[in-house]
Amino acid sequence: MATIAENLDAVHHTIESACTRAGRDPDKLTMVVVTKSADFDAVRQVLALGYDQLGENRVQQLKKVAAQVDELHSQNTQNSDKPAVHWHMIGHLQRNKVRQVLPLVRMIHSVDTLRLAEEINETAEKMDLCPRVLMQVNASQEPQKYGVPVGAAVHLAEQIETLPHLRLAGLMTMAPLTHNQDVIRTCFSRTRELFLEIKGERIVGSNFTELSMGMSSDYPIAIEEGATILRIGSAVFQA
Ligand SMILES: *Cc1c(COP(=O)(O)O)cnc(C)c1O
Repeated sequence: MATIAENLDAVHHTIESACTRAGRDPDKLTMVVVTKSADFDAVRQVLALGYDQLGENRVQQLKKVAAQVDELHSQNTQNSDKPAVHWHMIGHLQRNKVRQVLPLVRMIHSVDTLRLAEEINETAEKMDLCPRVLMQVNASQEPQKYGVPVGAAVHLAEQIETLPHLRLAGLMTMAPLTHNQDVIRTCFSRTRELFLEIKGERIVGSNFTELSMGMSSDYPIAIEEGATILRIGSAVFQA
């Protein structure tokens, strides 16, 4: 059975190979460790190895694990000078949960409607915050999926950009669950084209730098297609 440290080593090895193929610098990639499938002992091991960017896709679970991490840090006085953990909300976010999640997270990856962006903007103003958000794009055109359709994405970016209490930091996408690598690659490359289009039309400011794409099954392809943030869960926590 592989340990978490071994899994992380294997992931890093794969990241480095993909970066070599793509001529990219692995140090410029952010890896968010997605803890939704992990028990807390496993999360603790990840933290002990120095990882500080964690992701959850549900608000309830994020609150729970974030509280456990806080408690761990406060118990362990030797760790009191350890940098805080930065949380990423990567899953679908309901407007009535925004107030709970905003104070906890560094970045929300899943903004896909103007109504949600407006709710984040209003809540952030009240809380005196200015969160970084990503616009989630449904680049694979699957009807059941969250994310703004590609054809509506530029307009939504323009609208989000007018909101003063959040910063649009880039795009996020999820590839379809398929073994067909061409389908996955097309989804990522389409998202990258959209990213460049939005940047090129100067709709957005210099904060627009991130492409969150790539999960355990497809992150090498995502790296080749320009991802800057990877969201990796099961490849870290599988036994
Ligand atoms: C669960 C999840 C991930 C990580 O998936 P793995 O296949 O476990 O790596 C990434 N992004 C989102 C939005 C998720 O919900």
